[in-house]
Amino acid sequence: MKENRYSRQVLLPEIGSKGQKAIGGSSAVVIGCGALGTHALSFLVRAGVGGVRVVDRDIVEESNLQRQTLFSEEDVGRAKAKVAEERLREVNSEIEIRGDVLDLNHANIQAVVKGATVVLDATDNMDTRFLVNDACVKLGIPWIYAGAVGTTGMVMPIVPEGPCLRCVFPTPPQPGELPTCDTVGIVNTLPAIVAALETTEAFKIMMGKEPTKELAFIDAWLGDLQRIKVRKNHECECCGKKNFEFLQARSRKLVVSLCGRNAVQIVPAKPVKGDLGPLAKKLARLGRTKMVDGLLKFDAKGVELTVFPDGRTIVGGTTDLAKAKSTFSKYVGD
Ligand SMILES: [Zn+2]
Repeated sequence: MKENRYSRQVLLPEIGSKGQKAIGGSSAVVIGCGALGTHALSFLVRAGVGGVRVVDRDIVEESNLQRQTLFSEEDVGRAKAKVAEERLREVNSEIEIRGDVLDLNHANIQAVVKGATVVLDATDNMDTRFLVNDACVKLGIPWIYAGAVGTTGMVMPIVPEGPCLRCVFPTPPQPGELPTCDTVGIVNTLPAIVAALETTEAFKIMMGKEPTKELAFIDAWLGDLQRIKVRKNHECECCGKKNFEFLQARSRKLVVSLCGRNAVQIVPAKPVKGDLGPLAKKLARLGRTKMVDGLLKFDAKGVELTVFPDGRTIVGGTTDLAKAKSTFSKYVGD
């Protein structure tokens, strides 16, 4: 370790050299590489966290550049996790950094969070948060819930024995029930504030200190922060009854319109095993194909497909679910 690299943290009585050592010996998993994720990752990597892993399923879009600080114009169309990994390595070559292009589900979530000192939530959806909550409570890993939309956000550290996400929100919201960045927008300063509070709590956990117990509610426009006390629900399905229902298998093909994107995402019931080479070869006869960051891009006669290594596919240029499904069946398979 270069001597001065972390000197401004070591100087702080809250961290000191002992704290810095603990941070260097810790590992963090960041779930999602959007606005919260890019800010949190930058903080973690610059602070010298020994191992940093980010998991994200998406590609960079032009509308992300307003707030997702690790990406530039030339990255549009590339896998977020891979771009983030490259940028973060340039920032700090002394730590381990890993970016995984992965769609989290009941089958892979435990392997992703296992062994982490702390997990940071930077997703844009509640379904993934319930998955992370089940996995972290089951494995006894602290995680930090964080969300940001419009001008307001929330942060809540969740530690083993404490209240969990389902003590606060017993069931996931219905699709379309909650506002999203695609439907109501977001002020680009908000994720920086939320990710800063979230990462500060992560540092405390890494150093073996108590994180804040309450749920912080932030309004970036009003410059307001409120703390809300959260109680453990002993009848909670997750932390009370240990009924980890989100980790149970549900295998069905998922077809969803990606809001605000003129695209449909299809997740096959069974992930594709092996690589996309044979599919790329097959499609090359039918149109233009290109491999970018392990993703297969296909373009022919008004059809745009992005196929991820696990078979998940984004059908561009349509919001028609039936049309997208038939395009998927025609080119990728069942
Ligand atoms: Zn609970």
